[in-house]
Amino acid sequence: MTGIYVGNDRVIHFVQAIKANAGAPLMACKKCGFKRKDHLEVVRTCLDCFHKKGFLSGTRLYLYRYGFSRLECQIHRTHCTKMQSCPADQVVARAEEIYESGNQFGKYNFILNNCEYFATYCKCGTAISTQVDQGVEYVRELIQRNVHRYQQLQNGDFCSSSR
Ligand SMILES: [Zn+2]
Repeated sequence: MTGIYVGNDRVIHFVQAIKANAGAPLMACKKCGFKRKDHLEVVRTCLDCFHKKGFLSGTRLYLYRYGFSRLECQIHRTHCTKMQSCPADQVVARAEEIYESGNQFGKYNFILNNCEYFATYCKCGTAISTQVDQGVEYVRELIQRNVHRYQQLQNGDFCSSSR
């Protein structure tokens, strides 16, 4: 789960819509008024709702960092990207604009249009998901390894099962 902190204890983030009969809490948040059941897909909540009440329950809050080197991204793997962030006021303006427009970010899709796409679009002007990209890269590596193994086997080479 990623979102854009827009100040005054508020986060704008992109969440999957919950069906009316889902077992989500009925009570609206006393701090921000957010009600899990009747939200649109781009929502503005307090940090508590973003972090503790259902979205990120039991997880830690991280600051996602931009403009890291390729090596630093290899070391940290998550929570950082090589992409450069736009100035903060521009980032907040993008998030507010999408939120105020009544959810112009489209339908939530875990792979093709998730919270990270929303956040990177607000931050950088380009909607990407490093988590999905890393998953795609992992699958690509597996395929390449297997192709390499297959070529080794065709050539009569011994293929280690440890790689
Ligand atoms: Zn709240």
